[in-house]
Amino acid sequence: MINLIFLGPPGAGKGTQSARIIDEYKIVQISTGDLLRAAVKAGTPLGKEAKVYMDGGQLVPDSLIINMMKERFESDDCQNGFILDGFPRTTAQAVALDEMLQNELKTSVTHIISLEVDDEVVVKRNTGRRVCPSCGATYHIKFNPPKDGGKCDKDGETLVHRDDDQEETIRKRLGVYHDTTSLLKDYYSKSGKFFELSGDDHPDKVYSKIKEILG
Ligand code: AMP
Repeated sequence: MINLIFLGPPGAGKGTQSARIIDEYKIVQISTGDLLRAAVKAGTPLGKEAKVYMDGGQLVPDSLIINMMKERFESDDCQNGFILDGFPRTTAQAVALDEMLQNELKTSVTHIISLEVDDEVVVKRNTGRRVCPSCGATYHIKFNPPKDGGKCDKDGETLVHRDDDQEETIRKRLGVYHDTTSLLKDYYSKSGKFFELSGDDHPDKVYSKIKEILG
């Protein structure tokens, strides 16, 4: 059973690596960023409240995120294992996650992998990132361009540059990461399940290291 948490700044490669893992290990990926963007698009009360924080590069309040994840864990598809991408982001969320897993799913986190990437690499990766609004596939205008100009290779949708991937917002998100989310490393480092990997390497190399960890 694999219940994996990915830590790392925005653009560390969590989404890219998650896509490979879910294919090979047949587990689900849960991205709080994707869930929130879907709520914003659907115009739900959660989406309306979250949008203000997301546009400003700030974290959405813990209570909203924890409730959203409680609901997400009620789906049967989590029973065979999962990857958490973008959650937890604060110690309060990590504590709530441990409780949710123990009480509701009768399971626990098996691996925590932190992808370490230099700040300037993060800025370059995010400002060049383009995303398919339909299937979530990600590209980079220089490092991983789509085959057909601005269209998704998988479904032909026009790719978008996320509002929060603009340089000013990225720098804010990085600040939030260093101030808050990176503290989670302390929370997990003594668990015996915590691994740090360089996310600066080529995605293939990162993936082979992840496979060594997951077994
Ligand atoms: P991401 O796609 O993971 O980079 O998330 C995009 C934005 O959604 C973040 O900058 C936050 O505003 C918000 N967000 C996503 N996950 C969380 C979380 N676990 N806690 C608080 N805010 C979050």
